[in-house]
Amino acid sequence: MTKDAVTAEAPQAAQFGFEADVAQLLELMTHSVYSEREVFLRELISNAADACEKLRYESLSDERLAAEAGAPLVTIALDKEKRQLTVADNGVGMSHDELISALGAIANSGTRAFLDKLGQEGAGEGASLIGRFGVGFYSVFMVADLVEVATRRAGDDQAWLWSSQGKGTYSIAPLALDDAPKVGARVTLHLNAESDEFLEPWRIENIVREHSGAVSTPIDLIEEPG
Ligand code: ADP
Ligand code: MG
Repeated sequence: MTKDAVTAEAPQAAQFGFEADVAQLLELMTHSVYSEREVFLRELISNAADACEKLRYESLSDERLAAEAGAPLVTIALDKEKRQLTVADNGVGMSHDELISALGAIANSGTRAFLDKLGQEGAGEGASLIGRFGVGFYSVFMVADLVEVATRRAGDDQAWLWSSQGKGTYSIAPLALDDAPKVGARVTLHLNAESDEFLEPWRIENIVREHSGAVSTPIDLIEEPG
């Protein structure tokens, strides 16, 4: 290829290291003996509902996005055979750069406050602080040993698959549009050996009722056949 070729660069898969603060948080999450690990679901639902609200808001001033936006919906799917719990939304989704800034760094002021408090009170107190602070997305690593986020940013042509085992690195690979949610994001948790309870529909219903009762976006629960 010549230097001045104007062909667009093909999207590439790449591996990234988490920001140092995230690495510290993940260490805490993966070794957490905290009893209310169920708060991970509250965090995923809150992110999904936020994403729906963001798409609705952006649609007000962008006709192209308005055409993509459907009625906001959060869907939780359980697959016992694969030991997967999935939370999908039809919200705004994330671009490649947004995946890096939102799921590779500390995007959220609540998490920053959590880490500051942790610095003051010591790592031993971390577990009890998790419930008090909304520690966000990274709480998924309390219950999963592999997490995948398939997403397409509303308005973009390219979809991406973010994945991590929560051990210092994550990767982002291009995803065929057929394998991505039509709009929004799909977060798949490959549940760890201690998290069978989160494959039970009654358990999930109770958690949603207890922790996400105030969320105005409708939430569907689906049990995968088989
Ligand atoms: P917070 O929600 O407080 O910002 P989180 O750790 O829960 O912190 O999430 C970090 C960021 O990741 C969010 O601010 C958002 O930009 C992005 N994000 C997470 N989940 C989704 C999702 N389902 N759709 C779009 N963006 C998301
Ligand atoms: Mg959040």
